[in-house]
Amino acid sequence: MNPFEYMRATDAASAVATVSARPGARFLGAGTNLVDHMKLGVARPDLLVDVSGLPFDHVEQRPDGGLRIGAAVRNTDLAIHPTVRARYPALSRALLAGASAQLRNFATTGGNLLQRTRCVYFQDVTTPCNKREPGSGCSAIDGYNRDHAILGASEHCVATHPSDMAVAMTAFDARVVVLGVDGERTIALTDFYRLPGEEPERDTVLGHGDLIVAVDLPELPVAARSTYRKVRDRASYAFALVSVAAALDVADGTVREARLAFGGVAHRPWRASRAEEVLRGAPATTETFRRAADAELAAARPLAGNAFKVPMARNTVISVLHELAEQEGR
Ligand SMILES: Cc1cc2nc3c(=O)[nH]c(=O)nc-3n(C[C@H](O)[C@H](O)[C@H](O)COP(=O)(O)OP(=O)(O)OC[C@H]3O[C@@H](n4cnc5c(N)ncnc54)[C@H](O)[C@@H]3O)c2cc1C
Repeated sequence: MNPFEYMRATDAASAVATVSARPGARFLGAGTNLVDHMKLGVARPDLLVDVSGLPFDHVEQRPDGGLRIGAAVRNTDLAIHPTVRARYPALSRALLAGASAQLRNFATTGGNLLQRTRCVYFQDVTTPCNKREPGSGCSAIDGYNRDHAILGASEHCVATHPSDMAVAMTAFDARVVVLGVDGERTIALTDFYRLPGEEPERDTVLGHGDLIVAVDLPELPVAARSTYRKVRDRASYAFALVSVAAALDVADGTVREARLAFGGVAHRPWRASRAEEVLRGAPATTETFRRAADAELAAARPLAGNAFKVPMARNTVISVLHELAEQEGR
């Protein structure tokens, strides 16, 4: 591991000023991703500014009925928060499907959003990887690509985003609250993450020194009827091959409102807007659920090792929508 300095941030503005002024500086949340990458040589910061002790460790009700989740809120605390469990159950389930209890107890909301891909080549500094070393090539395209993207990939990168939490937040129109040198701004999560394009080294639209201070969830009645299903190689401690966050409101057999996002299939959590369009106003039947899944997955371009993800995503969407529709009928 490279030598580095460590400092504990005392306030957000000076943390932003410090990191912005030093290209080699990075914010540190709980370090469960960044420190691993430092040990592997994937990340080589010369200064860590620890922001986990800043006073962003609360979940607050907003005057507009939404929820503000501080960037330092630990994953476990968010998952078991009574309002999150009651009003956004898919978010609670997504968090509990991630990592292990020990990691969830420590990992922060800000760090979870910015965790980096688990692509084996990204994490192996002996192999070419455009995300880690721009211009070096993508080892996954013709290599081991079972875990990789089927939607929105480019010839430069086929990595997937690993966060479960971010998939549920994407389905619920979350906005990220960011403090930069020019002040605070909010960014819709659907605009926050990038597709790889020609710059796969950039996961998000954030600039160097931008600090996540919170995530805002809007008041969203349909979110109370939501769930998250994660398909993976073993029942715990594994990243998603495919995951689905879904919310469904059915009245008199017709879909009034639907929210859908996929994980494990793209460089960013994948908001399934085409599927949502098919669902809204349609009968809540298997036929509709199939058409919705097919509409979204028509753009899928699987690689040699991951064609199975297309039917897996399709079947998971149909099954999850059935589960939610049946709950509505009870
Ligand atoms: C064995 C293992 C299994 C796992 N399984 C899963 C899984 O199944 N599902 C899943 O979703 N995750 C999984 N994870 C990942 C885990 O969720 C992340 O490591 C964790 O959420 C990162 O949070 P952190 O606070 O430790 O971030 P850190 O490691 O501290 O930081 C991660 C990145 O975010 C930046 N950062 C941190 N806070 C801020 C901030 N406030 N503003 C701006 N930048 C910031 C850092 O600079 C760094 O680049 C797993 C991890 C491990 C080690």
